[in-house]
Amino acid sequence: MNTNCEGIFYITTPIYYVNAKPHLGHAYTTIVADVAYRFNKMKNNSAFFLTGTDEHGDKVVKAAQKEKMTTKEYVDYISGLFQNLWPDLNVDYSKFIRTTDPSHMKTVSVILQKIYDSGDIYFSEYEGLYCFGCERFYTERELVDGVCPDHGTKPEIIKESNYFFKMSDYQDWLIDHIKNNPSFIRPERYRNEVLSFLKDPLEDLCISRPKSRLTWGISLPFDDNYVTYVWFDALINYISALGYPDGKNFEMYWPKAQHIVAKDILKPHGIYWPIMLKAAGIPVYQHLNVHGYWNVDNSKMSKSIGNVVDPLKLKDIYGIEAFRYFLMREMTFGLDADFNEAALIQRINSDLANDLGNLVSRSLTMAQKYFEGVVPDVSDIENDFSIKKAAMQTIENYDACMKDFAFNKALSFVWDFISHMNRYIDSSAPWELAKNSDKSDILKGVIYNLLEGLRILGGLIYPIMPQSSEKMLSLLKESPGNFNALSWGQLKAGTKLEKTITLFPRIDKKKSQKDRQKQPKHVKKLSNLKPEISFEDFQKIDLRVGRVLAAEKIEDSKKLLKLQVDIGEIRTIVAGISRHYSPDDMIDKKVVVAANLKPAQLMGITSEGMVLAAVKKKKCSVITPDQQVSVGTPVQ
Ligand SMILES: [Zn+2]
Repeated sequence: MNTNCEGIFYITTPIYYVNAKPHLGHAYTTIVADVAYRFNKMKNNSAFFLTGTDEHGDKVVKAAQKEKMTTKEYVDYISGLFQNLWPDLNVDYSKFIRTTDPSHMKTVSVILQKIYDSGDIYFSEYEGLYCFGCERFYTERELVDGVCPDHGTKPEIIKESNYFFKMSDYQDWLIDHIKNNPSFIRPERYRNEVLSFLKDPLEDLCISRPKSRLTWGISLPFDDNYVTYVWFDALINYISALGYPDGKNFEMYWPKAQHIVAKDILKPHGIYWPIMLKAAGIPVYQHLNVHGYWNVDNSKMSKSIGNVVDPLKLKDIYGIEAFRYFLMREMTFGLDADFNEAALIQRINSDLANDLGNLVSRSLTMAQKYFEGVVPDVSDIENDFSIKKAAMQTIENYDACMKDFAFNKALSFVWDFISHMNRYIDSSAPWELAKNSDKSDILKGVIYNLLEGLRILGGLIYPIMPQSSEKMLSLLKESPGNFNALSWGQLKAGTKLEKTITLFPRIDKKKSQKDRQKQPKHVKKLSNLKPEISFEDFQKIDLRVGRVLAAEKIEDSKKLLKLQVDIGEIRTIVAGISRHYSPDDMIDKKVVVAANLKPAQLMGITSEGMVLAAVKKKKCSVITPDQQVSVGTPVQ
């Protein structure tokens, strides 16, 4: 597998689909790419790191409509969220591509025409089961109990003429390629998954949508009545970003291409993409690296389900360096892993503050105390080489694991070395050596070994925690980013060390939870508070969740809307919200209704309840539940 260290390295994340905001899954994939990129740069490889956004398709159009934006405004907005997020996660990409970039759209046209000319794209009528959530047709056997496995909804039967890509012609070639290149798709479980999928005959891929149904896409160069379908547009970003066909970057980086994806998009990357490349006469990528899901509160993080942990929020609470460390340490690349705050705090306190942080501060404090903060000269003494040996072995193991995307293993080797160093302090007991002038040479050796060990550790953590690496090495007057500097004995005698600092503060779990609750700066008293009532009095009010079925303006009234609200039974309710909400705004809206209010006559209509709203001066906002709840649910 060690094919990625031959001087050139090209790494990509998927381009993220802009129908939703960035979540933990996006953050993880992109941080993995960043770690691999930094590792390769550290090894003096020419490295290129691509990420971006996928911006076409009807899901994007629908999402824009929902947000009351034009499609262009919407894709600019979401793409901007991604672009702004990466610097906050210390992600240092080389290029950010958008599928709405004119140069990308041109490349897609070129590839489509090329494959069309070679006869691998044909026109045909198709009738099939279509899931609008997935934007794809399903075969009967792909459905689970007749519904989409991702959305749980019943697909609709759709009949239309479309263009198809003849994938079946390349099936045997792909099987051979995967079998002859064991690390083409890795880890192995996903290679096996693709091979097992290829045991059945491959169906041809529908690659177009008629413009009658979708205009937000790239027109087919050979038929202007159609736009190309999502995958044929999206996957090509990996080469359009390099300036295919004659860009210098394409020539240099494409032969060393590696993709990183989550397992939900294994099939397009493991099957469609290599076949598209083959059909277009382009060499296939070198590795597809596939990772699992983060389980957050026992549910999967994926693009289709909206359970979202805001990575920025976690970063702000615990620091981005600890967050990156946790993600790399906790997930075995390829398998699912659990994300929870307690485990994150545990990692910070035990691995970072206790193991590494204490090692740094103990070692530097002793260097200050026994050698006035100057690196001792060990050139003419007999030094103990056990730490050197452990360090060299650690570097070798780390190197192999990092190349293999086994980040958790690489870190576990690093932390074994940290434990080894901490034990070395205890067993060599420098404080005892310092008492005996006969032992001053041994003391010199021990302190030198510790400082040199720290220098190597500071270098090893760089790809995962670049800022901490820099801080740690600055204490030794060194800087990170060069793998060759990790050989033993490079720390110069006579270097004046900086005083130690706290690299990783411990997290007090209770305090951190308290910090998260906003503390008011000064307490004001409400001046217009109504007289106190008892809990029993409050309990008399029956509040229910309702859904507005119909809404209309009431003639001769500027303020009032007449609503039909389903609260488990249908109520007519007159609400004074007409200046703020049109009838259309209200239809289908979930509201909270005071259900046992005595009916009242308003403009000749009997109002059977009241809709709750926040009202102040000219502002009015109808209260709506922030999660899906059924009508009739009591509000307490
Ligand atoms: Zn679906």
